[in-house]
This record gives sequence, structure tokens and C-alpha cells, in this order.
Amino acid sequence: MPIDHWLETLSPHGHHMVDGDLAALAVRPYPFLSADSVCNQITRLSTHLGALRNDVRRQAIAYSLYVRQLDAIQEAGPRDRCKGGCPRPPVGCCTANHFVILSLSDVLVGGPSPAAMHLSHVITGLQRNETAHSVSHGQVLSPGHCDCLAADGCTLRLFKSPRCVHYLCREVEDALRLEHGGQAPAFIAAMKAVATQTITAVGDFTGAEVISTALALFG
Ligand code: SF4
Ligand code: SF4
Repeated sequence: MPIDHWLETLSPHGHHMVDGDLAALAVRPYPFLSADSVCNQITRLSTHLGALRNDVRRQAIAYSLYVRQLDAIQEAGPRDRCKGGCPRPPVGCCTANHFVILSLSDVLVGGPSPAAMHLSHVITGLQRNETAHSVSHGQVLSPGHCDCLAADGCTLRLFKSPRCVHYLCREVEDALRLEHGGQAPAFIAAMKAVATQTITAVGDFTGAEVISTALALFG
């Protein structure tokens, strides 16, 4: 399901924060996104999340913009392998509920900050909305694997978990090394660092080095 179709369906809960959110977020660099898509995404999510505290709403929107860049990066290279040469068909690596951002053990062992817990909670709600929209527009869920998995792939685009959005299997890593040579290891390491880190703070959801190293491969 195209991302902008879902954004258009989000119910509005206040337009009053849009200008402030655009001023805070649209000025940042998004090398893999067009200015129009950035502004539209900020506007739609700001309106939908208008009842939230400023900091939480902006963290959720910033995460969605980061994930949309990862979506573009995956589409530029790694996803070819998933579509055409996955070594573990038919569900690949989507064998469990990897969309969960903070499990009970993450909370008990990692001790995430209140801000990280709040952001995780907001993203979880948006995941439910995104999956429901994908299903209502024709995607058919594949029971027995991940609850967000449909027969034609993941029902999430903007609110995949940090674990999902940064995951590269061994075969995809090898394909990237083969195609991009010496520039691939830095990108692979940056992806792996975020995919495997314990989330204790809001900054652990994303990785600036992922974007900078991806530019060398796909920019
Ligand atoms: S990351 Fe690897 S295991 Fe997962 S779907 Fe892609 S090719 Fe398959
Ligand atoms: S959320 Fe999507 S990418 Fe992640 S495991 Fe589930 S189906 Fe796969």
C-alpha cells in the first residue's frame, strides 16, 4: 500500500501544531526523500497526533521520516534480494512478532527511559492503524508467523520497528558486499548496530550513521 494513501486516511485531531512541527522537522536533511513527501508526512502526522505532547509527537514524526528513508534505501538495493532470492521462503525472516519494539524483558532488563516507553507506545498504536489500513485495502494476513505479515509482505511501511527496519540477513549482506565492495561494510555495521542495540533512550531507535553510510551506496 503506498505510504501517502495511508497518511491521507489518518483522522485529524488538531491542526494547531502543524506550523511548529514543520519548522522543527522539515529543516532537517532527508537525503532519500523529496521535500514534498517530507512536508506532506509531517503535516498529516502532526494533524493526526495533534493531541500529544510536542516532544512525543515530534519524536514519532521524526521516526516515521527516518523509517521512510530506510524504506527508500531498502528499495534501492537490499529488497531485491528479499523479493527475488530469499533463502528462507515463503516468510523469510518474518517468523515472529519482530514489530514489537519493547518486550516485557526489554522493559525489565533494559530499563528504557519514560520517553522511550512513551514513543514505543505511540508507534505501537500507529502500527495497528497501518496494518488495519493495509488489510482493509486488500493485503491478506498470513497467520502463524508475524502478526503484521501478509501474503505479499509486511503490512507496515512507516512504523516498522527498529529491529525490522535495520535487519539484514547474511545473504543480503553478502549481496551488498559483492555489489558495493569496500563501501558495504560500514553500512552493514551501522545497520547491525541499531538492529541489535537495547533500546533505553529515544536516540536508540535510529542511527545517523545508517543514513550517511547508505549515501555512499545508494545516494
Ligand atoms: S532479509 Fe534475508 S531472510 Fe529476510 S526476507 Fe530478505 S532475503 Fe529473506
Ligand atoms: S513487522 Fe513486518 S518486517 Fe517485521 S517481522 Fe513483521 S512482517 Fe516482517
